[in-house]
Amino acid sequence: MLNTNTPEIQFAIHAVRQASILVQQIQVEMIQTALTKDDRSPVTVADFAAQALVGYLLDQHFPNDAMVGEEDSAVLQTPEEHQTLAQITKFVSRFTKGATPESVCAWIDRGSAESAPRFWTLDPIDGTKGFLRGDQYAVALALVENGKVQVGVLGCPKLPSPSGRRAGDEGTNNGSIYIAARGQGAWAAPLADETNLTPIHVSPLTDPTQARLMRSFESGHTNVGQMDYFSQALGVQAEPVRMDSQAKYAVLASGGGEIYLRLLSAKRPDYREKIWDQAAGAIIIEEAGGRVTDLHGQALNFGLGRTLANTRGICATNGVLHEHALKALQEISA
Ligand code: AMP
Ligand code: MG
Repeated sequence: MLNTNTPEIQFAIHAVRQASILVQQIQVEMIQTALTKDDRSPVTVADFAAQALVGYLLDQHFPNDAMVGEEDSAVLQTPEEHQTLAQITKFVSRFTKGATPESVCAWIDRGSAESAPRFWTLDPIDGTKGFLRGDQYAVALALVENGKVQVGVLGCPKLPSPSGRRAGDEGTNNGSIYIAARGQGAWAAPLADETNLTPIHVSPLTDPTQARLMRSFESGHTNVGQMDYFSQALGVQAEPVRMDSQAKYAVLASGGGEIYLRLLSAKRPDYREKIWDQAAGAIIIEEAGGRVTDLHGQALNFGLGRTLANTRGICATNGVLHEHALKALQEISA
């Protein structure tokens, strides 16, 4: 059972839900005009506003906890970004008391902390390209203690809840939220009613040829050629599912896919995964019964700074297929 009375779990659910609602509002109010002008400002405003809101809530609930977040306010403090900061402050003030340009920057910069024995890690909008396109994106928050994720929450405003997906009512959905705590399972709820929690589990599929693969929508974030070799090595039939953000982890954890790879892009072989891009998703997969390692089967260590410094790529599966996937990865890199 998930103990929703734990202050950490309560805070994480509340913060992700509030931030998800905030970024939904920004998307609705800003994106129509922006798209016609090829303007990235909605995602900028939403990214900073969501991080400010989570920083504000962290100050209230856990004032002594550190946060490692994707954004920092330096650019917002330049004269050119004066208007952007004013806009961010306007949105954040809907959810906070005492929002001024200065306090908003201070809340954002809660996220500039270094890794610590205990800290929170936040991606205010994971999948910014999906957010702009109107596709999948996620708000991701996790608590890390001694290098291990203990709590993870994903807000997925564009992803129907698992029961909604099964019923096929994707058009009428207002998003979903995913929660995992170490030893307490993984859970999903509609974003509109986070108390309506149902347990989620990975798919029981054991036949690798039937596996459904998940990958980034953005080709530059993966290695498309290697993905094809991998499919051939496993004998996979189906086309991979392309989706932005950690929504992929939410789908895999609730049985909608079996294997999710983050292969190293040929253009950026030195790329190291950012901790906020993986932490919440990884614990949700593990608590739903799956496995997450790097491409060589190594465990992920979230306590080494802002990146998974010792890790090359990511392999997440429903568990049963993990060894099959690692073996296929070995074959294609040999
Ligand atoms: P996705 O939506 O799965 O493509 O993942 C989005 C995340 O990929 C972003 O938050 C980035 O931090 C991260 N990213 C950016 N560049 C790369 C890269 N070259 N390889 C892997 N991930 C990347
Ligand atoms: Mg991200």
